Amino acid sequence: MMAAGGAALLLMQNDEGKPSLPVAARAFGCRGASPPHDHPHIYLNMGKAAGEIRCPYCGTLYIYESAEGAGAPTAGAPEDGAEPSTKLPTAGEP
Ligand SMILES: [Zn+2]
Repeated sequence: MMAAGGAALLLMQNDEGKPSLPVAARAFGCRGASPPHDHPHIYLNMGKAAGEIRCPYCGTLYIYESAEGAGAPTAGAPEDGAEPSTKLPTAGEP
């Protein structure tokens, strides 16, 4: 079923300490990390105009990422539209 919205608040956490995380909602809660390392749970709302918001407690930059059309988002997914290229400059190339 599709989520109607309004009832449940998405609660985000950043256990890995990443500088930024994608979030599937413009309004959500942040607790920083899993207890007991969590910070006071706060409500963040980036509004309609903005596409990102920074948590004042843990400094995580949350970037809105629409979930529509996405298959199964996994951790470490490339940025939207990015090619899955992992080529690295080869040292010693002629
Ligand atoms: Zn936070």
